[in-house]
Amino acid sequence: MVMNLDKCIGCHTCSVTCKQTWTNRSGVEYAWFNNVETKPGVGYPYRYEDQERWKGGWVLDAKGRLALRSGGRLKRLSRLFANPELPTLDDYYEPVTHDHDTLLSAPAGGDAPVARPRSALTGRPTAVTWGPNWEDGLGGTPEHGPGDPNLTGGLAEKVRFEFERTFLFHLPRLCEHCLNPACAAACPSGALYKRAEDGIVLADQDRCRGWRMCVTACPYKKIYFNHATGKAEKCTFCFPRIEAGQPTVCSETCVGRLRYLGVVLYDADRVGEAAAVPDPKDLLDAQRALFLDPNDPQVTAAARASGIPEDWLEAARRSPVHALISTYKVALPLHPEYRTLPMVWYVPPLSPVLDAVSASGGDPDSPDHVFGAVTGLRIPLEYLAELFTAGDTDAVAGVLMKLTALRSHMRARTLGGPDALGPVGLTPEQAVDLHRLLAVAKYADRYVVPAAHRETDTRGPGTVGFQCPVGEHEPSPGQRHVLLGMPTRRRKEETP
Ligand code: SF4
Ligand code: SF4
Repeated sequence: MVMNLDKCIGCHTCSVTCKQTWTNRSGVEYAWFNNVETKPGVGYPYRYEDQERWKGGWVLDAKGRLALRSGGRLKRLSRLFANPELPTLDDYYEPVTHDHDTLLSAPAGGDAPVARPRSALTGRPTAVTWGPNWEDGLGGTPEHGPGDPNLTGGLAEKVRFEFERTFLFHLPRLCEHCLNPACAAACPSGALYKRAEDGIVLADQDRCRGWRMCVTACPYKKIYFNHATGKAEKCTFCFPRIEAGQPTVCSETCVGRLRYLGVVLYDADRVGEAAAVPDPKDLLDAQRALFLDPNDPQVTAAARASGIPEDWLEAARRSPVHALISTYKVALPLHPEYRTLPMVWYVPPLSPVLDAVSASGGDPDSPDHVFGAVTGLRIPLEYLAELFTAGDTDAVAGVLMKLTALRSHMRARTLGGPDALGPVGLTPEQAVDLHRLLAVAKYADRYVVPAAHRETDTRGPGTVGFQCPVGEHEPSPGQRHVLLGMPTRRRKEETP
């Protein structure tokens, strides 16, 4: 998936439709498989990006090998019954409901009735003191923004948090369905697995024993413990819809039409090597290098030899995700330094830059003013670099300049004026194609999802799954798709 952050309006429709579909049950009241955060901000759960605190993701050991930040098997086993690196309900939030009946049934009187908040867990009246997007818009940013873990070094002093002077954008987040998932490597039961046929990472409810090591190991904190069933749950990438050739619910319902879904072919044998490059700033290029060109005849031949169906190869050629990540290189991964090689990428927002140009009296439509601002405005650029390029400001600036040049070119085509396409390496034809993709792409262009094939289904024996780089668990043969909350009896009937 790729998301174009310039178009997210923070409406939370994606979160709500996801919740109605997947977590509208007791035990996961607090869980949002998809949530939308305001940045700058502390995120959900509280400061999840602070890996010194939560110990998520991978690090390189003294010999340069990948190791889970949460420690080896012995360390994790020693914390089986008391793990200080698990977020508590306070770090997520206490889910509330409201006493709506009072509004409807209160007798006529001198005072307006109010619906008091009640805990969705205990039913008792409670005070709302924290939530999954407490900074909503700029509502809480002046107070909580300085706690954002991305404000490293001197950045905290440079970013202004006064209501009138700070910048904001929305960051929708879901499980990254990583190529190198720390959650799967940490699970002692082998319950988490990456499907060989489409790369979706799932939690097998039958195998999960509720150890919650995956919750600690996931640096994005996108695994949730269901306190009613005692099992871990996570975003399923709406696999029943994907198998039917339909987009995920969050994509289907996205009001901003900013989500893109498509097939990406990659070299699975080089995943471990890419995740272990010494310099975190090289992780972006290392991951990009894993992605294969679906128009390359050698790649096509190798894919056919691996049993990838023809309609999937055609979908890979038409993939908007491949176009945004590899062809135009305008999408970036979220926190590549976690070394999980995430597979939900983002087109970074240009708006903070343009806003700042206007605020300083410049012309946001002038390439000279905006190009100057992209490199000169250290605050948003450094901040975006912390999020998307492990601190490499040149990489973020390159993407923002490309987007700026695209705007000026499209404006010049109809209104005349300066055209700055040349320096960013786009041809006019490519600019039109990229503009169509980013600005006016229709449903069929945004979601190129081929239906599943029974012959590549991993429900039968011989699942390949995820090759754990630390070798702590082997993928189990015949690991099954398991619908969350569905009784085992029904699953068995459905399974061939
Ligand atoms: S983002 Fe998803 S796939 Fe990646 S480590 Fe977390 S739960 Fe696992
Ligand atoms: S539905 Fe789309 S526009 Fe609305 S918050 Fe979600 S990602 Fe943003």
